[in-house]
Amino acid sequence: MNQEELFKKLIAHCKEYGFIFPSSEIYDGLSAVYDYGQYGVELKNNIRRYWWDAMTRLHENIVGIDAAIFMHPTVWKASGHVDAFNDPLIDNKDSRKRYRADNLIEEHLQKIDEKIEKEIEKAAKRFGSSFDEHLYRTTNPKILELSAKGEALRARYVKALEKDDLAELRQIILDEGIVCPVSGTRNWTEVRKFNLMFETKIGSVAEEASTIYLRPETAQGIFVNFLNVQKTGRMKIPFGIAQTGKAFRNEIVARQFIFRMREFEQMEMQFFVKPGEELTWYNFWKEQRMKWHKALGMGDEKYRFHDHDKLAHYANAACDIEFHFPFGFKEVEGIHSRTDFDLGNHQKYSGKKLQYFDPDLNQSYVPYVIETSIGLDRMFLSVISNAYTEEKIVKEDGTEDERVVLRIPPVIAPVQIAVLPLVKKDGLPEKAREIISRLRFEYNCQYDEKDSIGRRYRRQDAIGTPYCITIDHQTLADNTVTIRYRDSMDQERIPVDNLETIISEKLSMKNLLKKLL
Ligand code: ATP
Repeated sequence: MNQEELFKKLIAHCKEYGFIFPSSEIYDGLSAVYDYGQYGVELKNNIRRYWWDAMTRLHENIVGIDAAIFMHPTVWKASGHVDAFNDPLIDNKDSRKRYRADNLIEEHLQKIDEKIEKEIEKAAKRFGSSFDEHLYRTTNPKILELSAKGEALRARYVKALEKDDLAELRQIILDEGIVCPVSGTRNWTEVRKFNLMFETKIGSVAEEASTIYLRPETAQGIFVNFLNVQKTGRMKIPFGIAQTGKAFRNEIVARQFIFRMREFEQMEMQFFVKPGEELTWYNFWKEQRMKWHKALGMGDEKYRFHDHDKLAHYANAACDIEFHFPFGFKEVEGIHSRTDFDLGNHQKYSGKKLQYFDPDLNQSYVPYVIETSIGLDRMFLSVISNAYTEEKIVKEDGTEDERVVLRIPPVIAPVQIAVLPLVKKDGLPEKAREIISRLRFEYNCQYDEKDSIGRRYRRQDAIGTPYCITIDHQTLADNTVTIRYRDSMDQERIPVDNLETIISEKLSMKNLLKKLL
């Protein structure tokens, strides 16, 4: 099964098992807007909690806020979003499909990189243990030609972005022979700019109404509250403010399920530092954030840093953490050194001082900012796409069967423990409920008595429940239960009193957070 088919199956699975539904589905949905179902919301909340606790509990100099979605319209002038939050769009005249010109070129660049890697792989196989990758990369004519082509194109592309040269972006698409994936033709329109902010009106009287925006990022709510938090929390630099919440972007091309949505959720932290110290802190946060991702145990090789080709005009360093999604390595989080751009501009536009008095230097300054910004929905997609596994299994009677299992990291699984009475009588349901009543304060538990035990296990596998606990008649006699492990499907008989020790090792957020220290 190729990655595309697998991704389609994942989307269907998310719907079938109550993770994600298309928005307003009975009206045929709304493009790039999704609702989280009963299991989706649990997983999402768990990811958010992992992020929130890692930020605000593990760092005594980071506090959280929850700012409103609506903000004064001048905020978006000061932030640059009114004038510059644009994407370059291009249409294919034959398919009438719309694309982001920058994405088309970046995907083309990625294909060149992939070609190089394929050549290397082929050579590695051919030469076996005597293969010297470095030598091959630096001497093989085909590799050298491809690398030179990629580099020249990247340079041309970055220059066009820096100059905001839309005609040149189009020319690159034409020169490189980039075709529309749907029609397969090169019949492109001009490249145009498109502002991504949603507008609405505030106030009930039309004449007095003024245009406001749905925030396209949560960060500005932090900047405008910088002094409120600093003063009321008596924060000393360096310190950070964290926030999670909805953001809205009228994305031109909304594809790939919840990877690019028009309404989504961000988890952002702005860290305020002394000017001149920003690059040290930038590197600190790069490392911290990578650690946070890797601690979930989804595979270190699934992550990589990607430095930005083009820095935003206000940034002096920026990179993405990319995750290996079924459609390739893509950004899941951005880490940016934003200088004093945001606070400086808010100071200018509002006429209010946004400075910090540094008692050590006996001087005031506008702090510099390091931002870590991760999409909660994208993080969700990385977890669930990595978790989705189809497996062939051999049943006890020797026949073959298949199962779909979500190998979600146990600590963030939507249901962590399923408690299953073998039969619906003889006091087994009561015993099962008694066990749940002990565990539910710490773990999300589910009771299920319907269907055969095998089918119940399958259902729990399909939603990613790491532990199933089965109650049978022996439980009543000696207070032992069977614990079944999701990933290995192994079963073990254990005393009820040992349950908490066994499950808490994998399910406790505390153990996960400890890995970050
Ligand atoms: P992209 O290049 O993919 O459009 P971006 O660089 O504009 O993303 P940022 O503005 O840095 O993204 O936003 C920070 C994070 O918010 C991203 O890393 C991503 O995880 C998330 N994010 C941004 N746009 C969307 C979207 N439309 N849908 C879901 N998540 C998003």
